[in-house]
This record gives sequence, C-alpha cells and structure tokens, in this order.
Amino acid sequence: MSGRTHARVCPERTCVGCRERAAKDDLLRIVAIEGECVPDPRGTLPGRGAYLHRTRVCLDLAVRRRVFPRAFRGRGPFDVTALRRFVERTHVDQAAPVDQATP
Ligand SMILES: [Zn+2]
Repeated sequence: MSGRTHARVCPERTCVGCRERAAKDDLLRIVAIEGECVPDPRGTLPGRGAYLHRTRVCLDLAVRRRVFPRAFRGRGPFDVTALRRFVERTHVDQAAPVDQATP
C-alpha cells in the first residue's frame, strides 16, 4: 500500500533560464517553429516545449547558455526576437525601475 499523497497538484516545470522549478502556470511555454522561438502562453502549439519565466533575466540566461538548441533538439541558432518582444511586453520583474523623477 502506498500511502503517498502524490496527488495531482499543479504540475511543475523547470525554467530553462535560471533552472529553478516553478508551477507550470508561472512559466511561459516556448516552442520552436522553423528555427524561431515562439511564445506559447496558452500552451496550445504542438511540438516540444521549453519553459521559461516571463522575465528578461531568464531569457538572457537561456540565450547565453544556448539552451534552446538542446531543449528543442535542433541545430540552432534559434531566433528569439519574437520571444524577447513578448517577454518585454509582459515581463513582471521590477528589478530595474524606470527613473522618471529626473529633474
Ligand atoms: Zn527562470
């Protein structure tokens, strides 16, 4: 008898940027379509997916460590232009507040 309460809690995925585990809902799914990293916020696109925090920090980490060719089992380089634009539009990190109070 397995007394494990390993119920289906929220599924976890590993961010390919910072390598931290997070709830799937907190991460952005990315798929590769013809050499381009495409954000898949609704998780509906077919194919192998990679997961990333919606932050520029994690995106930069992923790019610098060249995780996409590994994640997508492809040659690369993968174009992250669309992905970067998406992250910049939706990113939630408050690491760099815009200084608007400059006199
Ligand atoms: Zn991350």
